[in-house]
Amino acid sequence: MAGLFSRLKNGNDGADGGVPVRAFNNASRASLLESLEKSDLGWFWASDAKGVLSYISPPAAQRAGKPVEDIISMPMTDVFQPVEDSDDRGTERPLKFQLAARNSIKPVTVEINMGEGRSWWEIAAVPQTDNAGTFLGYHGIARDVSDTYESTRDAEKLSRYDSLTGLSNRHRMSHQLGATLTAFRASKRSCAIMLLDLDRFKQVNDTMGHPAGDELLKQVAARLQRVMGDNIEIGRIGGDEFQVIMPDEDDRGVLGELATRIIQMLSQPYSINGMRAIIGCSVGVAVAPFDGIEEDELVKAADLALYSAKGGGRGAFRFYSSDLRDQASYRHQIESDLRDAIARDELEMHYQPIVDAKTHRVACVEALMRWNHTDRGMISPADFIPVAEDVGIIRELGEWALHKVCTTIQEWPGDIRAAINVSAVQFSSDDFIEIVTRVLKSTGVDPARVELEITESVFVGDMDRALSMFHELKGLGVRLSLDDFGTGYSSLSYLRDAPFDKIKIDQSFVRGCTAEDNKNDAIIAAVVSLARALGMETVAEGVESKDEMRAVTEEGATLLQGMLFSRAIPGSEIVERLESGELEFVPRGPEKYRSDRRTEFRKIGLIHENDRYNVFLRNLSKTGAKIEGLLDVPIGTDVVVDLGGGQLAVACVRRSEGFSQGVEFETPLISDGAEGLCTRHRVSPYQIEAAGRPLRALNDDAVAAVTSTMHSNTKSFVEVEISKF
Ligand code: C2E
Ligand code: CA
Ligand code: CA
Repeated sequence: MAGLFSRLKNGNDGADGGVPVRAFNNASRASLLESLEKSDLGWFWASDAKGVLSYISPPAAQRAGKPVEDIISMPMTDVFQPVEDSDDRGTERPLKFQLAARNSIKPVTVEINMGEGRSWWEIAAVPQTDNAGTFLGYHGIARDVSDTYESTRDAEKLSRYDSLTGLSNRHRMSHQLGATLTAFRASKRSCAIMLLDLDRFKQVNDTMGHPAGDELLKQVAARLQRVMGDNIEIGRIGGDEFQVIMPDEDDRGVLGELATRIIQMLSQPYSINGMRAIIGCSVGVAVAPFDGIEEDELVKAADLALYSAKGGGRGAFRFYSSDLRDQASYRHQIESDLRDAIARDELEMHYQPIVDAKTHRVACVEALMRWNHTDRGMISPADFIPVAEDVGIIRELGEWALHKVCTTIQEWPGDIRAAINVSAVQFSSDDFIEIVTRVLKSTGVDPARVELEITESVFVGDMDRALSMFHELKGLGVRLSLDDFGTGYSSLSYLRDAPFDKIKIDQSFVRGCTAEDNKNDAIIAAVVSLARALGMETVAEGVESKDEMRAVTEEGATLLQGMLFSRAIPGSEIVERLESGELEFVPRGPEKYRSDRRTEFRKIGLIHENDRYNVFLRNLSKTGAKIEGLLDVPIGTDVVVDLGGGQLAVACVRRSEGFSQGVEFETPLISDGAEGLCTRHRVSPYQIEAAGRPLRALNDDAVAAVTSTMHSNTKSFVEVEISKF
């Protein structure tokens, strides 16, 4: 080797008989490469246009533990594998994609593992093309970096701190949590964890650049440390995921307040290099031993809670409860079945009439998707559309719907219009306009009969893109309708510029708009007059009662939609109406909207002295509950209400009438982060363990399992079969 370099160095004068550089011919170049190849300083490899290795330096093959002939003809992605837990921020495009895209490959560490031991190589390559620009394959170099790779990886694990934020890293958090849980189990102590995930962090990273993203993470870490104080372990366990360990905390009141404070703190604007960034935060909370005994069980619980917090409209916290596990598996089921739903012909479109506010004659219809699942029956689009959006099949579903509706209405008599829902995810895909154009053309439907319902959420993204897409769609001749108006990102300013034909006032404003001390009617009137000024129609959605109908008509809505007139019905029923000329839908329903209609009807337990009774929960508020199922319980009776999942509330009967009682809780319930309520404290699995049962996380009937054997000889109250009433 020294010979080669000294010859090169002294080459110019050729005094020692070496080869002068200028005179370096192909033969000497080949010998240079060959000696380099043998030296293990660097190896060479090449691939063909299909990504199959066509050359590899023999010493490299030897290091990989395979004969050259075996490696050649293998796909290079099988030979060069991504190293595990590489780049947890996911910002680098995986090697596989880079190779497929025929990019040049900057030095990257890969793992070689073909059954003959592992090694780590750093590879780099440039694509080769012929004169016509046709891709021929790669020429690349490689070198063995196993020693340094292994030592830096170990060093990282040892350091246990996140170099960016200075918080604990994933390894340390996991180690701490595992150790804490093991120690606490022996001393019967509890420990809460919170998982935090930043909302919209990716947008900041993508639009402001990674250095700005890094700066943002640092500021988030600093704010977190300020909220939590010094004694609490905080870690960054992934790109924008954080974890907090809180020993000896099981009061969900305290945890809920803390989670709220964290969300508020992290949602304040950040200043990054003079620019403003706003992100949000979702939090999932789980407490050992209630929600999980082992580390992985507890983390999984917090993860499910976090997932549910994100699903429920971000910027929220959630406590884990055992039904989240059921929901997760239900969702999982939907997810896997949905992929086949189109192929299995399980999807249908139903049509809900939208009537003229004055004549109640059908003016148009809204197409709503229905999934008739072979085993589960009808599944609501409110359940499966969000799943389809998440897993990326909404575009397929959307195109199917568009096609289906356009073909169907072609067969209807007359020229009635149909509105089709377009999800924001569909709208943001690059080929949306193309798909609409294609469907209009292939079905030959008159575009003026097609209306696209788009929700406000498309305005949070790239506003200019949205506006230009609206204009392109209008150019195709279809009509546009703004759906669910008022629920999200309402800014009246975009209405001025966006060419909508119609505004749909969301159900939540229509609901209860006649109730006193309710400002909904004023909001509806304002939207109606604004729409009128802009030359748009208005639909009041979700009209369920006659008083709502009168109110929204008085406020000037031009069109009405809701159960009062008709739910969504199969296309055949619409056709019957159209053919018979029976176009008027007569309002049928309650005279007045009653807010107490959506009460609970859940089976719960009630414990009195030494007896456990089954009762129904009809109404739940922070301070009390209405229960049914026991006959003549005297006012002033002290009871314990078992709300499930280890939640016991001490209460006193304040009202009693026949089989129905109103009880008042000794300590008020607290918000569970979602719409529900929960108790601050729960029965500890340690107590259940002490009653002779195995230690495990609480399930819905944790207390029932222990107390169902309770019975005295004479029960004080008579249980009545509530379904009879
Ligand atoms: P949406 O676009 O707001 O549709 C109106 C929803 O309100 C429908 O629920 C409809 O059945 C329901 N509704 C109508 N009148 C009343 C009423 O008087 N009271 C009450 N409480 N509800 C009423 P549905 O069919 O369950 O659909 C739920 C959501 O799923 C829709 O909300 C829409 O966002 C989405 N969706 C449905 N079909 C499609 C589709 O083909 N594509 C896409 N992207 N989304 C769809
Ligand atoms: Ca709609
Ligand atoms: Ca709607």
